[in-house]
Amino acid sequence: MSIFKENKQATTPISNLGEFGLIEHITKSFKTQHNTTTKGVGDDAAILNFSEEKYHLLSTDMLVEGVHFDLSYFPLKHLGYKAIAVNVSDICAMNGAPLQITVSIAVSNRFPIESIEELYSGIQAACSTYNLDLVGGDTTTSNQGLVISISILGEVSKDKVTYRAGAKENDLLVVTGDLGGAYLGLQILNREKQIFLENPEVQPDLQGNDYSLQRQIKPEARVKLVEVLNKLEIIPTSMIDVSDGLTSEILHLSKNSDVGITIYEDKIPIDHTTMNLASELNLNPIFCALNGGEDYELLFTIKQKDYEKLKKDVDFTIIGHVTNKSEGNNFIDKAGASHPITAQGWDPILEK
Ligand code: ADP
Ligand code: MG
Repeated sequence: MSIFKENKQATTPISNLGEFGLIEHITKSFKTQHNTTTKGVGDDAAILNFSEEKYHLLSTDMLVEGVHFDLSYFPLKHLGYKAIAVNVSDICAMNGAPLQITVSIAVSNRFPIESIEELYSGIQAACSTYNLDLVGGDTTTSNQGLVISISILGEVSKDKVTYRAGAKENDLLVVTGDLGGAYLGLQILNREKQIFLENPEVQPDLQGNDYSLQRQIKPEARVKLVEVLNKLEIIPTSMIDVSDGLTSEILHLSKNSDVGITIYEDKIPIDHTTMNLASELNLNPIFCALNGGEDYELLFTIKQKDYEKLKKDVDFTIIGHVTNKSEGNNFIDKAGASHPITAQGWDPILEK
């Protein structure tokens, strides 16, 4: 029998499971064998136990051309910076600090050396911002596009590490910064690309959208806010970073913590420029904040007693609270009506 013969049984589409279902499916039969593996698959970073006082944190993220970025509008320098920032964000989500990275690239011969230099100038800028050492990687060819895979090592005091699990009933749900901006930045870039493709004479109109564009093209990991939490002596009971969108992250926190979560429409922080841009693009800003990803803010739960300590800091917004699991995950709109949060998030446009 030829090894090249098609396996007629193998026809199950990945979409049957989705990304998270697939990860669970392929990793569930792996048992950890070393007592230095404190936490394997399932959080923003793995937790490794090599020293008395600290845990080491290990995480990896890959960016693929055409899937995660479009080089027709994404400057390579910014891409290099973003690739690092999104990895640092996963270390922040464990309440940790980043230390070292490895960077692996697959490049096709359509890229000149100058392009790779551009990419690495962004990587270097991010290493400087986040105090990271580049300690290795791999370089290979790709048949078509550019692929960047980064692994990051971080550390956290053992008494401060935060998991996606750990939220308890009556805890408060907090998000840093504001949401929806990165998604709208992407919409603007896509809009201008379409216009350009239809009429290459027209100059892109990016004016007045600096904030959203910056959120999409130059996101920052919330390292400073992890330091603020530390100074305020707050250890979140659970934490995740907002990479896929608020609703998706809420579902991860509630599932891992075995609780329910309720959030309120009128509490969700949205920058006024995001509001204006959403209305210009005929999008519901709440929908963008709930379902648009890539804001790289931190979403975490705290004990009620810690509320007084962070209530004055504008970088933190209480958007909801933790309930019993039996109540499920809910979004309370401005009129007070409750909507269950589903895997796709709550879509106010589809509901109408
Ligand atoms: P994040 O969005 O924080 O980067 P992911 O959703 O990518 O997290 O991954 C969730 C968890 O699944 C992490 O612990 C990650 O290391 C693990 N994971 C993802 N893909 C794989 C894979 N192909 N094999 C093993 N573990 C994986
Ligand atoms: Mg993450």
